[in-house]
Amino acid sequence: MYRATKDIILPTTITGSLPRPSWYTENLGTRHFLEAMVNRRFREQYEDAVTCFIRDQELAGLDIVTDGDAHFDDDVGGQSWTAYPPNHMTGLDIEHPVPTPAGRGGIWFPRGHILHDYLESRVMPIVTGPISRGNLQYTAMWKAAQRITEKPVKWGSVSAEIVTFALQDRHYKSVPDRMFAIADAFNEEYHELADAGCPVIQIEEPQIHLLAVRNIVDAVINPKLMVEVFNRTVKGLRAKTEVWAHSCWGNPSAQRMFASVQTYKPALEAYNTVDADVITFESSASGGIDLEAIGKIITGKKIAIGVIDHHTLQVERPEEVAAQIRAALKHIPAERLMISTDCGMGREGMSRRHAFYKTVSLVLGTNMVRKELGVPEAKILAADERYSLVVPIK
Ligand SMILES: [Zn+2]
Repeated sequence: MYRATKDIILPTTITGSLPRPSWYTENLGTRHFLEAMVNRRFREQYEDAVTCFIRDQELAGLDIVTDGDAHFDDDVGGQSWTAYPPNHMTGLDIEHPVPTPAGRGGIWFPRGHILHDYLESRVMPIVTGPISRGNLQYTAMWKAAQRITEKPVKWGSVSAEIVTFALQDRHYKSVPDRMFAIADAFNEEYHELADAGCPVIQIEEPQIHLLAVRNIVDAVINPKLMVEVFNRTVKGLRAKTEVWAHSCWGNPSAQRMFASVQTYKPALEAYNTVDADVITFESSASGGIDLEAIGKIITGKKIAIGVIDHHTLQVERPEEVAAQIRAALKHIPAERLMISTDCGMGREGMSRRHAFYKTVSLVLGTNMVRKELGVPEAKILAADERYSLVVPIK
């Protein structure tokens, strides 16, 4: 069901994570969120961080904001994205974490590559019994963000299959069994979140495109199974809230995971069958090569395109953002087009200021196109000349 994006032309948002403030030195670790929030120092830093993240997005004029993934620890490559759920669910031995075996999830980088550190940081609890949601506490974290803004706060989190691939298992008989157990636990958590009023729930990185592009013929672990896992994760949610599927080609330590530009084409038919209201596609870093195919194959859903590259520090000019949106509008009708970043900017590598000005540029560029279409523009306090501290030229 469309909620957050209802009645807005070219709604704007970011993917999720934002760079941590340098003064945010507290980490959750394996503590429960509510337990950590009892601590005065954690609570102050956490709430201040969420406030900064949201305020920056409001100043930039975004329509839909996130809490910047403020519960992530200060991990190598933003490992918390994967590690937070298993460290807070039940059925896992968090006291004795072990490294994820090499090559799991189809990713490998040799020693000497920056992402080898990321692989070494995949230190995860072992599955020892039936998995359930335990202390994920997404609802409490979402409320801590939504209570300080009138803008809709989107809640995003990692897909069940990414977590599944990272774990070693002494309980489930097969990988799909483990995957479905995690998907069911997430589903229960998301229903609580939707019932609490969360206006957008975003499942991050279904592996549909990553398996399709590798062209691996596997009777079990294939894009069809990934669609099934996605649909099980979000079962029943669209009756209550807006469901997004976020896809990209990777972002730990702001790195490209592939040596060359990848295409979504082999995965689009499968993506069109996911039980979601919106699908997001990385598009800026790839120069928009898939826009035509996306417009043709993704029907009946809204499409969010990334117009900001999370891998680079060069802030996109508003004119570049506008050009990308105009290119998308050739293939996707304005009523179904949304504007986002390719992926999160907060998984190690970018400064807060770079992320902030990229977000401002995203909205400035969107406003240029909104003006051409004759639809309302967003107010961008961050770009209001009246408040410049520079003395005007006489
Ligand atoms: Zn992403």
